[in-house]
Amino acid sequence: MSSAESAPSLDFIRAIITEDVKANKNGGRVHTRFPPEPNGYLHIGHAKSICLNFGVAKEFGGLCNLRFDDTNPTKEEEEYVASIKEDVRWLGFDWEDRLYYASDYFDRLYEFALQLIRDGKAYVCGLGPEEIRAYRGTLTDPGRDSPYRNRPVEENLTLFERMRAGEFEDGACVLRAKIDMASPNLNMRDPVLYRVLHTPHQRTGTKWCIYPMYDFTHGQSDSIEGITHSLCTLEFEDHRPLYDWFIRELQIFAPRQIEFARLNLSYTVMSKRKLLELVRGGHVSGWNDPRMPTLSGMRRRGYTATAIRDFCDRIGVAKKESMVDIGLLDHCLREDLNLRALRRMAVLHPLRVVIDNYPEDQVEYLDAENNPEDPAMGSRQIPFSRVLYIEQEDFREDPPKKYFRLAPGQEVRLKHAFYITCERVVKDETTAAVIELRCTYDPNTRGGWSQDGRRVKGTLHWVSAAHAIEAEVRLYDHLFVTPNPADPKEGADFTSLLNPKSIETVTSCKIEPSLAAPDPGAHFQFLRLGYFCVDVVDSTVDRPVFNRTATLRDSWAKIEKTRPDGDMTAKARQSEDRKGVAPVDGKCGEAAPGENEITIDDFARIDLRVGVVREAGLVKGAKKLIRLMVDLGEGRLRQIFSGIRSAYADPEILVGKKVIVVVNLKPRQMSFGLSEGMVLAGVGDDRLGIATVEGDLLPGDKVM
Ligand code: ATP
Ligand code: MG
Repeated sequence: MSSAESAPSLDFIRAIITEDVKANKNGGRVHTRFPPEPNGYLHIGHAKSICLNFGVAKEFGGLCNLRFDDTNPTKEEEEYVASIKEDVRWLGFDWEDRLYYASDYFDRLYEFALQLIRDGKAYVCGLGPEEIRAYRGTLTDPGRDSPYRNRPVEENLTLFERMRAGEFEDGACVLRAKIDMASPNLNMRDPVLYRVLHTPHQRTGTKWCIYPMYDFTHGQSDSIEGITHSLCTLEFEDHRPLYDWFIRELQIFAPRQIEFARLNLSYTVMSKRKLLELVRGGHVSGWNDPRMPTLSGMRRRGYTATAIRDFCDRIGVAKKESMVDIGLLDHCLREDLNLRALRRMAVLHPLRVVIDNYPEDQVEYLDAENNPEDPAMGSRQIPFSRVLYIEQEDFREDPPKKYFRLAPGQEVRLKHAFYITCERVVKDETTAAVIELRCTYDPNTRGGWSQDGRRVKGTLHWVSAAHAIEAEVRLYDHLFVTPNPADPKEGADFTSLLNPKSIETVTSCKIEPSLAAPDPGAHFQFLRLGYFCVDVVDSTVDRPVFNRTATLRDSWAKIEKTRPDGDMTAKARQSEDRKGVAPVDGKCGEAAPGENEITIDDFARIDLRVGVVREAGLVKGAKKLIRLMVDLGEGRLRQIFSGIRSAYADPEILVGKKVIVVVNLKPRQMSFGLSEGMVLAGVGDDRLGIATVEGDLLPGDKVM
């Protein structure tokens, strides 16, 4: 793990650029570009490239262009151009007056082609596409020269001019570079530079019926714009020799191309072709379907630009392809939304609760904070009355052990309101389904606290029935069922891996009245349920529609599944209590982690700190323990008992060592005294040793 949070670490790209600047290359100038092809919507992978290109430019006091590499009129559309601009801006980047199109350079590129022909470096080839492929050879066999390869320059000039004039059908001939048909790099085997295509272009209309290939466009466009560092993904590494060849032959400005690994994200696909297939095949509602990894889909779902930028920062750039856990993205999202989302109460699957000892027509208003993380966000008044709704899941007639929610005879806290006790269960006569709970409330617990100090363990969200607003809520899960859907089993189509439960629409949800007519795109945290965002497409004043952006951490369901002893349950509850309320069981929550896997969120809850051992000694009567007094920069020492005595017969030698301490464990009362944390140690078959850290770290510094 890096120190990405503290200071921007110098990845290999920034290290190269730093060197170039130091060496005063290009007069110390740094100029990058983000070069999308307008043939689809941008996705989270593009965000990585955008953050990198715009980020680098900013950090080095340089500039970044937005350039559309629009060389293929058959696949490109104005709709895509507009959406790309919107998405880059939304992410928080500004190309100012530097918006370019490769098509702006068609005249220059045509001139470049003529230059190569005149220099005997390009020729018009009459082989068809199939033949060109056959002549090209393979990785193991060299290619064969085209029979047209040695056409005289004049003939090539005339033919190319005639191509441009529209005298040839699509595919009848192409212009090729004359490089080396035996090159081990297939890109160098006389690549095609220009093709005939009688298709109008969205920007140049019918001016051209020949179009430059992407490879003949990209590098020269960078050169024309004076791009100093041309950052692209790894698949272009093999194209670099070709781009360099063009630059050299044409004797034009030479950008430095640096390749980095694409972002791959688990449980989704990132290829525009596949995304287009999902749209065209009706597997999703469009490019901006909230399940799509597109920026427009993610925005609609409720992801914030801050979270996405933070995510891109944290994943960094590297040379090696890898798969990033989507849990990291959600972690960044929760960190951001936790600070800014208004807390609200919403009941997705309502169960009617009647408070029998509450007066029929009484309504009282209770004060409820908008965000416990930020008192400046103020509070709101929520109505309480005799008939309420709670979540069906929050009641069990026959509760398991350690079930702290509502059950017959059990008392719970209604958040911001009162303690209530379930007295009676009303059932449907024919189906025996629970349709209503008759409860009593304790008027002395207003605000959710009791004078007599009695504790209730469960806290539930609720809404007043008479004041509730109806809403639709859409719950999303991963779009695919496997972590790597881009790589299906032989012969299988990736769409066969789509998750049939990726969306669940819940109608007739009951939401608190302060959520009336919410602003499209607004973010909320529905207590215990997750983060939600008002749908910008379908939400109306009469009928609000919310998209679930992310669940909260779902510890109860996980623990209930894996821990029969119930001990962890109490611990988990405690950490949840700190947040006020516990999440309800999620139905379609996190990536179902493998047996031995925990999510990044789980891990992030462990607070690791550097501690300096100030005292260390044996413990009387304990065979395995030693007692450490550890300085964690808290102005006091913590006592920690650690089971490492077998490795430290003389614990004194630990004094002064920097160790790693889990500081947010619940203190444990032992017969020898209170133990306030855990020191990390390494253990092998017959070895045991405390983990120490070196370097410029102080007591209390965070270990990541
Ligand atoms: P196509 O498969 O259609 O070429 P593309 O994803 O490469 O699609 P471009 O429009 O060419 O799309 O991408 C623009 C820029 O974004 C390129 O520089 C590309 O390298 C970069 N990019 C695309 N996908 C990713 C990704 N997953 N991670 C990082 N950068 C990406
Ligand atoms: Mg591309």
